[in-house]
Amino acid sequence: MGVMSCQRPECPEILCRRLVAGAYLCEGCWDELLRFKAGWPETMKRSEVRTKLCAFLEVPPGSYSTISREEVDEEFNRFVRDGDDD
Ligand SMILES: [Zn+2]
Repeated sequence: MGVMSCQRPECPEILCRRLVAGAYLCEGCWDELLRFKAGWPETMKRSEVRTKLCAFLEVPPGSYSTISREEVDEEFNRFVRDGDDD
């Protein structure tokens, strides 16, 4: 039997019992998924459910957590580089 690691990138959790779309998910990521799902529209296409789940599984823990304005600015700045730095 494997260690059943959480299959989101960079998540260190192991011994996960919950399978989502065939991928092991730890309790922390599961909670994050439920909070994400709570914000989904009232009605959706089946394919959109699948697309959202797959996108969720492809990114590190916390990626779908709602963050404060300050954290939004920090996150934004992580992606910005001044061209003169090269
Ligand atoms: Zn996880």
